Amino acid sequence: MSQHRLDLAPGEYVFHQGDPPTSAFLIESGRIEILSEQDSGTVRLGVLGPGDLLGEMAIIDAAPRTASARAETAAVLIPVDGRQLSERIENSDPIVRALLRSQLARYRTLLSGRRGQSEDAIVVASSGFESDAKTKIELETHLRQALASRSLEIRYQPIYEIKSQRIAGYEALIRWSHPTRGQVSPAEFIALAEETSLIVPIGQYVLERVAETLAELQRRGVAPMPFVAVNVSGRQFNEVDMLAAVLAAARSRGIDPGLIKIEVTESLTVDVEAISDLIERAHASGVKVALDDFGTGFSNLGHLHKLRFDNVKLDQGFVRQMLAAPRCLAIVQAIVAMVHALGAELIAEGVESEAELAALAKMGCRYAQGYLIGKPWTLEEMLARHP
Ligand code: C2E
Ligand code: MG
Ligand code: MG
Repeated sequence: MSQHRLDLAPGEYVFHQGDPPTSAFLIESGRIEILSEQDSGTVRLGVLGPGDLLGEMAIIDAAPRTASARAETAAVLIPVDGRQLSERIENSDPIVRALLRSQLARYRTLLSGRRGQSEDAIVVASSGFESDAKTKIELETHLRQALASRSLEIRYQPIYEIKSQRIAGYEALIRWSHPTRGQVSPAEFIALAEETSLIVPIGQYVLERVAETLAELQRRGVAPMPFVAVNVSGRQFNEVDMLAAVLAAARSRGIDPGLIKIEVTESLTVDVEAISDLIERAHASGVKVALDDFGTGFSNLGHLHKLRFDNVKLDQGFVRQMLAAPRCLAIVQAIVAMVHALGAELIAEGVESEAELAALAKMGCRYAQGYLIGKPWTLEEMLARHP
């Protein structure tokens, strides 16, 4: 018997009820009967044929076989390694995994002949619903409600122009004011929103609020007007024409679209063509584009020369370490020089001390953002600075 192929004579068993699960099988030819050994005797549950998958249930829930499989005719099976299937299941979305397992549990309960108790069975099965999947479903449901009830808030973190010592603009940072958990950080829920298309209406919501805020500043006669940068994540970028959305939000409120800046995270620059196209179209409409979190995981200097970003935002990890680590300081100095040579301006993120600000000023870094200048402000706090 080869590991890659199993030849069975009629009447030969593939596995017996109660056996531990090892492999699933793909039926290449012949017919396999599924038999359940019950107190009343052997019951034939069904017959599988070419193209059918056999024995995968025990692999999914890592339980002993609940039925036997026997060749009804001569048959050829291809074993599918159990570990290969389990690994895929473990790596899948926890919600999909939980749905699969709860359906399987329900099916097993019905198979075991406890039909009269199927209501109980359903309760038992769903109480086994994995808790991480449950938490995720609850969180996503609450997030949808928060969006619908407009309880997502925007905070505005000042971006400081070091030389002129003035606030040049803001970064819009979303906050979820959760009824019991208080302010929830986007680090927790943006990734969740990105797993479904929920990120699209959230992004649209942020754009609308930002455009309203800029319109209010304009109404107050603020001059010069600060810019507001909005974060755009991968899925938003792929599903929506972000530039068209920015232009529409600005124009419907009579503000200059150039006041809204698009911040793309560095991981996105993997799709160089799409980013490059966005930047060109943005520039044609006077909209600036910033590269966020520069220097983290996905740094790809090979692409940077092709992408005409207006701003590069240095990830806060560098500012955090640069005063204690001379080698880190050397990297920051080199990044400032490189960014300038590419015709862009650097925004240092996470500036928390005067010493950090002074070091950045000395290097010629144009902008600083961080708790030293200001934490993300509420709309009211922000407007109070522009009476
Ligand atoms: P980001 O765009 O890199 O935003 C900067 C984050 O650093 C913010 O966290 C900000 O509060 C924090 N921060 C600023 N200054 C300091 C500082 O001096 N020290 C420290 N320790 N932290 C500082 P936040 O608001 O939790 O946002 C986290 C990330 O969530 C953002 O990182 C951004 O990628 C994402 N995000 C925020 N709002 C939106 C949004 O509207 N849409 C999308 N797609 N993503 C968003
Ligand atoms: Mg950002
Ligand atoms: Mg950042």
